[in-house]
Amino acid sequence: MTHPLDKVDPQDAPESAAPASSDVIRCDACPVLCRIRTGQSGACDRYANIDGRLVRSDPLVILQRAIEGEKKLVPFLEPGKPWDGSVVSAANTFVTGIGATTTYPDYKPAPFIVSSKMEGVDMVTVVTEGIFSYCGLKLKIDTDRWLGPEQAAVRVDGEAVGHVTTAEYGSQMLALGGVHHLTGGSKKEGNATCDAMLALANKGAVELSIDGGSTVLVQAGKPPVVNGEREERMRVGCGSATIGIFAQQWLNHCDEVIVVDDHITGVLTEHQAGKFLDMKPAGIRVRGRKSTPGRYFKVAEPGLGWGGTNVEDPLSIIEKIDPKTAWPGLRLLMVSTTGEDAEWFVLDADLKPRKAPMPGPVRVVVERIAENCEPALCSVLFMGGAGGSLRAGVTENPVRLTRSVKGAITRVTCGGAPVYVWPGGGITVMVDVLDMPDNAFGYVPTPALVLPIEFTMPLAAYASMGGHTGNVVALEDVLRSAPFRAQAWRDPNPWPIKGDPHGKQSS
Ligand code: SF4
Repeated sequence: MTHPLDKVDPQDAPESAAPASSDVIRCDACPVLCRIRTGQSGACDRYANIDGRLVRSDPLVILQRAIEGEKKLVPFLEPGKPWDGSVVSAANTFVTGIGATTTYPDYKPAPFIVSSKMEGVDMVTVVTEGIFSYCGLKLKIDTDRWLGPEQAAVRVDGEAVGHVTTAEYGSQMLALGGVHHLTGGSKKEGNATCDAMLALANKGAVELSIDGGSTVLVQAGKPPVVNGEREERMRVGCGSATIGIFAQQWLNHCDEVIVVDDHITGVLTEHQAGKFLDMKPAGIRVRGRKSTPGRYFKVAEPGLGWGGTNVEDPLSIIEKIDPKTAWPGLRLLMVSTTGEDAEWFVLDADLKPRKAPMPGPVRVVVERIAENCEPALCSVLFMGGAGGSLRAGVTENPVRLTRSVKGAITRVTCGGAPVYVWPGGGITVMVDVLDMPDNAFGYVPTPALVLPIEFTMPLAAYASMGGHTGNVVALEDVLRSAPFRAQAWRDPNPWPIKGDPHGKQSS
């Protein structure tokens, strides 16, 4: 079956393109320069030839919100119907880059440069769809289960689309995409990378397999599914942190507690928390490398068992029980950092741990560990560099846009969602795809991802940066000129149009 990205070879299309005939028009929105016959769409399905006119296949997305202080919602512009002329203002209507069209590289002003007035200040929002080869996804997967070794390749359909990167507290992290996978490898690798990124960025599910590790089904805002098992909870903390949190509650109910964890396994009576409570040493030594008192690294290999280790039998991590210190009848709790795995043991006359029914007060604390674990979710953040030619669609002096963004005079949003702008050079933005409208991303077959992006600033700042002021249009003119789809504003997002030019990127 032909891959959609194979419809046009970006290397061949410009050279092989014949002059456009009457029923063929050329799309110049990306370097592929598709020649599109009447009634057909281009390789990315974003543009079509309708009766000899090049049109964007999807409507422009307009977001509307309730005005603060009003009890009822503002009536939305009716989807699919032309604007009826009723009052719209920058206080409740925002034009996003979704469906806005673009050119790449940007050799003409952005498709919409929208004027508005907010808090007495004349404002401008420059609206476009940016095409990003330098882009990737950062995936935060809330699980302590073993996904794979750091730096291992992450694959889709056998193609490398990213790698495992530094784990975070309670989460495994993957980095997908990037220019090397998109354009630096084989065509198949680039297409697989583009497909996977597009699906994830548009809030779809993708199964990833990791070299030397697991398979994981990832979808923004949903629990990860590791090797077919849905993850329910994120650990409450590492083994040492769990000891610190619950030590007081175990006092008088347990003689020893071992919290099994792939990172730091905690041993209560050796730990500072146990010392603080004057707990008697229990003489139970666990395997692994002692970091500091009561904190052990590498008690087992990473895996899908207790606390993200490969431990199925918790007693397997006990190296020895010191007969000079331990005693018959010693009460031992072994528990994982999510409370999902827990066993209660009592030492017999030979100091062998024997499984026994867990006492009620101990069970309560184990259940409290579980209660304190947050739901395990996948987070998908898009990251891309908007500091290149895209700026030419905003201003004839691009570095001034960069400075204005860095100076918090220009606010950057993606489909209305707030972004984090990285420090240092360029305009490298990061956005949580869940803050954006559904299906906000597109692609072109170079391959690259298409991201809606908006730059909002005071009109005076726009003029002084060398902005395309001759192309500024009123919001009403945008509604008159372009087919649009109105959607509800996502309430937690800060409204991007604020009169205060020094407003933060997000609130
Ligand atoms: S791939 Fe899409 S944006 Fe690029 S030229 Fe073809 S139709 Fe236009």
